[in-house]
Amino acid sequence: MIYIGCHLSVLNGYQAMGRTMLDFGGNTFAYFTRNPRGGKSKDIMPDDADALNTLLKQANFGPLVAHGSYTMNLCAANPTTRANGLDMLGKDLRRMEYFPGNFYNFHPGSHVGQGTDTGVQLIADALNQTLWADMQTTVLLETMAGKGSEVGGSFEQLRAIIDRVALKQKLGVCFDTCHTWDAGYDLVGDLDGVLRHFDDVIGLDRLCAVHFNDSKNARGSHKDRHEKLGQGHIGADAMKRIALHPALGGRPFILETPNDAAGYIHEIRTVRHWLEACDG
Ligand code: FE
Ligand code: FE
Ligand code: ZN
Repeated sequence: MIYIGCHLSVLNGYQAMGRTMLDFGGNTFAYFTRNPRGGKSKDIMPDDADALNTLLKQANFGPLVAHGSYTMNLCAANPTTRANGLDMLGKDLRRMEYFPGNFYNFHPGSHVGQGTDTGVQLIADALNQTLWADMQTTVLLETMAGKGSEVGGSFEQLRAIIDRVALKQKLGVCFDTCHTWDAGYDLVGDLDGVLRHFDDVIGLDRLCAVHFNDSKNARGSHKDRHEKLGQGHIGADAMKRIALHPALGGRPFILETPNDAAGYIHEIRTVRHWLEACDG
């Protein structure tokens, strides 16, 4: 059994997100740790954090998947941009300690012409400067579509980052279905083969969370345009097979589909029906 939920706005605080997700019928969620484009963050009120932690426990939520800012590029060519990214990562991870035992995922970065190997090294350097031994968060590298100079468009690139980080036990991967499809992995025709390949290269024990998105584009398009569940090129049948795949059991599945609240409620209910039908 997986956990299902969607991306929520942190605008009304932390406990409010937990309440909203209960209303939506889900049992996990994602949120941006700071403004995804501007990079600013709001202070966390300890009472609000405690209230959310209590709610998560009472309602048997799965782990949350907080998302780092899009402006954070740990392998930027510009040293100032890189330093800003390092600063954001450090502060985000310190703030995650208010919510012990959850996940923090981020886009590895874009190497902007420096080459993949330099990108991989800069990302690993940043993680080596930021992770600490008794932190309570697992940091997830997101699988990317391979748009532009993005690092992380292949499992091998993510593995290369992990290999160069000392505190590997703090690292995992967030598997974005739209991104891996756009990167060229055949989730429709050969889901077992893709997951076996992931296991060979990275290890399924590191696959900690799923971003559960359909794609507006054909496989291998390197575009990264999310579509509503079942309305894209991956399609309902393959999305259902992913949700029910035994290798992905126990993971939080986060919808980042282009939806309003009603659309998310509908998709969460759809996934729940798949899970229940398979249970009986
Ligand atoms: Fe993402
Ligand atoms: Fe994603
Ligand atoms: Zn995306």
